[in-house]
Amino acid sequence: MSKLKSDKCSFCGREKNEVNLLIAGIDGHICDRCAEQAHSIIQEEVKKDSTFDLDGAKLLKPKEIKEFLDQYVIGQDQAKKIFSVSVYNHYKRLRQAIDADETEIEKSNIILVGETGTGKTLLARTIARMLHVPFTIVDATVLTEAGYVGEDIESLLTRLLQAADYNVEAAERGIVFIDEIDKIARKGDNPSITRDVSGEGVQQGLLKLLEGSIVNVPPQGGRKHPEQKLIPVDTKNILFVCGGAFDGIERKIATRLNTKVIGYSAAKDVDRIERENLLQYIAPQDLKSFGLIPEIIGRLPVLAYLNPLDKQTLRSILTEPKNAVIKQYKKLFKIDGITLDFEEDAFEYIVDKAIEFKLGARGLRSICESIMNDAMFYSPSEKIDKLHISKEYAETKLEGANIHRLKAS
Ligand code: ADP
Repeated sequence: MSKLKSDKCSFCGREKNEVNLLIAGIDGHICDRCAEQAHSIIQEEVKKDSTFDLDGAKLLKPKEIKEFLDQYVIGQDQAKKIFSVSVYNHYKRLRQAIDADETEIEKSNIILVGETGTGKTLLARTIARMLHVPFTIVDATVLTEAGYVGEDIESLLTRLLQAADYNVEAAERGIVFIDEIDKIARKGDNPSITRDVSGEGVQQGLLKLLEGSIVNVPPQGGRKHPEQKLIPVDTKNILFVCGGAFDGIERKIATRLNTKVIGYSAAKDVDRIERENLLQYIAPQDLKSFGLIPEIIGRLPVLAYLNPLDKQTLRSILTEPKNAVIKQYKKLFKIDGITLDFEEDAFEYIVDKAIEFKLGARGLRSICESIMNDAMFYSPSEKIDKLHISKEYAETKLEGANIHRLKAS
């Protein structure tokens, strides 16, 4: 080690006895004060890089947004297109607020309808990766009317504020994804039968946010901190994206389609209806029959559906997305110097099991986990550089694992 010339800070020149701490480097010293100052300069710089792009300067075009989504989400083209356009328009609207011309572009909140596990949340999460506005995902099931056990509606905005590092201006231009919106549907057709604290009351509260109003948000969330100072947040420019499975909505769609086509030139239309995937015919009135109040539906003018995942889509999901399950296993093994490969039949087997167990895309991972566990346990201690997964291997491992555990109830 080279001999240091003198014991003083090479940045501010203070002597050792003038500072609390002097840290020695190869060719100089730094005192505690200078180290702290350097730290805050770095923090400032990092912050500068990550500030939100509220003007949409780095804005991608809808086609580019969709291309980005394509890397992670398989299929669901219609939903991806609608989502891309909405996000693009959201930025345009934000820009308009700055230029303020005469025609006001109104916000178009979105509602995504599709079976569980078809990619609604994945779509939202993927969009979040490329956004430069604050973004948060919240679950509607935790919401109840004010005064009841659960979360108040305002808590949705607490999460957004946190995502925006408490920058209110940024939060006011953010995007909120509300998952499981179908769970706050009115329980019965007659709203007066019982008190419906997690249904219509919550929808009324949510309406306030969707319409655009100033909401007083508890910065820490919940009701645990009654002393906290509320922060007013204007929801006028916040984009809301709602997602839900709406189990059984196909029946409402079928009823509507049947009543509509009875009578005149019906036969031709009925023929064209694909009974397998009725969701593609979804219309706002079906959401109303399901139990959403008309005012909420009116505030969610963009309606998109996600297709159920067929065998071919599940097969693609296994290997194609940027962070596909199989790619992840290959990476894990590569770290141990092992090249992992799979027989095509093994993939087919995994997909068939996911369908048989009614687990959808979510099941692919748990099935792979059961198949790969032994290999992940033993191979790091064995001197191998290759591992081949055949269909037989997959079968043996999955049958050996307690597969019934995986079956959907
Ligand atoms: P939900 O529609 O219930 O919100 P998710 O988006 O949470 O479903 O999907 C669950 C998991 O299944 C995702 O994390 C992803 O791994 C996989 N998945 C579902 N749909 C797709 C898809 N279209 N493309 C790629 N992966 C998908």
